[in-house]
Amino acid sequence: MSERGHPAYHARQVLRWIFERRAEGFSGMSDLPKRLREELEEGWDVFSTSIALHHVSPDGTDKLLLECRDGRRVECVLMAEVDRRTVCISTQVGCGMGCVFCASGLKGVERNLTDGEILEQVIRLRNLLPADERLTNLVVMGMGESLANLDNLIGALDRICSPEGLGMSQRRVTISTVGLPDKMRKLAALDRQYHLAVSLHAPTEALRDELVPINAKVGLGAVVDAADAYFRSSGRQVTFEYVLLGGVNDGASEAEALADLLESRKSHVNLIPYNPVPGLPFERPSANSVRRFEGIVRARGISVSVRKTKGREIDAACGQLRRRGEVGQVVPDARAILPAPAGIAGDL
Ligand code: SF4
Repeated sequence: MSERGHPAYHARQVLRWIFERRAEGFSGMSDLPKRLREELEEGWDVFSTSIALHHVSPDGTDKLLLECRDGRRVECVLMAEVDRRTVCISTQVGCGMGCVFCASGLKGVERNLTDGEILEQVIRLRNLLPADERLTNLVVMGMGESLANLDNLIGALDRICSPEGLGMSQRRVTISTVGLPDKMRKLAALDRQYHLAVSLHAPTEALRDELVPINAKVGLGAVVDAADAYFRSSGRQVTFEYVLLGGVNDGASEAEALADLLESRKSHVNLIPYNPVPGLPFERPSANSVRRFEGIVRARGISVSVRKTKGREIDAACGQLRRRGEVGQVVPDARAILPAPAGIAGDL
């Protein structure tokens, strides 16, 4: 504003329109001079992405596939539950971690998202909510390894959590990571109150090396040590995510090994029954094996839950919608793309 000869406070007005009043264009910003609104309409866009696809599953989960200016696509999800409105966002185009069961990592990482592109996912999803509803929770579990793009992620989250932004509590934000020990320590040193979720997916080095190839470089022990350090410094209990793959890591022996690893730690285990990905050789675990796994871990005194699968009908697991868009498959349309306001992780 200053560079263009306008009073700087107009910038704050514009931000208020976008963050509080859900404006998606400049023409309706009625407290700005008309000439300035016209100038902004001509030279600027509120959003840098466009909506390539918007799907709504029968359970009410909204999933957006956003196209960036360079044509790359990312996805983000809004999940509505009785008392929660949770968004799940992406941090990278693709992912470089190569987890063998994941759609996002199939083609590697293409680039980091900017802080604006990360922030924009949250605002676009928030704008789908009815005017009297607010977002309550944010999970960074979409495409990409969150901590591989830590600086841009923190830039976006700081805005989301600031009173001049969306005003969300840091304690309502969960950052998921496959476990990059150096970045986990760097995050701890930033002194924020974000909840950390570490995707373990295997309780032994050998099995984790197979399922999460980055493990061969970092090692399970170093990941768990860094999680301990995060807990010591933030005071926030760490969640360990564990995707249950039928017949691969869902046996009683893996459950016992996981309990051996975690029983001395203050932690929570979140079990995620796998969403099968077309073209990948992994299956959803049986209901019996999920129950058995959960029971063994709980019997060892560890806090454990099984994640409900929201949005399964629209591929609300990381990378799946984007991948379908790329191969030209048609996703069943449940509701047309809606103009706002109207209506998971990589780590599923
Ligand atoms: S599960 Fe997460 S870390 Fe692993 S490849 Fe997928 S997006 Fe990347």
